Amino acid sequence: MSIFWQKTLNIGTIIRQLVPAQPCVLCGSMGHSGLWCKACDAAMPRLALPRCPVCAHPGPGGEVCGQCLKNPPLFDRTIAVFSYQFPVDRLIQSLKYHEQLALGRVFAEKLKACTEPNDLPDCVIPMPLHPSRLKNRGFNQARLIAAPLAKSLHRPLLDHACHRVRDTPSQTSLPWPERSKNMRGAFSCEMDLSGMRVALVDDVLTTGASLNALADAVKKQGAIEIDAWVVARTVRD
Ligand SMILES: [Zn+2]
Ligand SMILES: [Zn+2]
Repeated sequence: MSIFWQKTLNIGTIIRQLVPAQPCVLCGSMGHSGLWCKACDAAMPRLALPRCPVCAHPGPGGEVCGQCLKNPPLFDRTIAVFSYQFPVDRLIQSLKYHEQLALGRVFAEKLKACTEPNDLPDCVIPMPLHPSRLKNRGFNQARLIAAPLAKSLHRPLLDHACHRVRDTPSQTSLPWPERSKNMRGAFSCEMDLSGMRVALVDDVLTTGASLNALADAVKKQGAIEIDAWVVARTVRD
């Protein structure tokens, strides 16, 4: 199946999906609505159950995982839809580098489906980009997911509450233990969030270092409960 997808996945076709009756971006089949067909949706790499309630990493018994026990994150729980594997990795790359608004909306729907309607946060904050990176890219991919999500959940999108004040080296170029050091003090938050329950939205969770640093900034402003909401997370071997 995945070799077939690799051959047929055409990121360029995603834009054209805004027009009805277009082929599935993953397999090319017709006769569906949305970006990809039901069969491809069913075959997407969803995160296995049970999961660690804090970081959403799959693990036996659904207990707090060893990583979270050793280094408890500053966020309280994580909602993650997919495992960061093909074709989700390619779809996220395409959102990140090609401003695929339609993809942002679809990811927002997938995340919404994983939330508890009776247990929603008070506000939604997208992972901020450093101004220089925002200038280069022209948009923040986390905001492309967070904005439609906040709207559909009827929660305020606080997209100016937090700022990335340090343009840190790309996390992907660093070994894992270096990543949390790299992120220290990377964010500032000026808004008073006293007593608020906050959802931080990002595309991918790898080590959680960025989300942890953002959670730190938000907590210092009085947030009492912090959720990390991500489209996908990497799974350790
Ligand atoms: Zn398909
Ligand atoms: Zn964990």
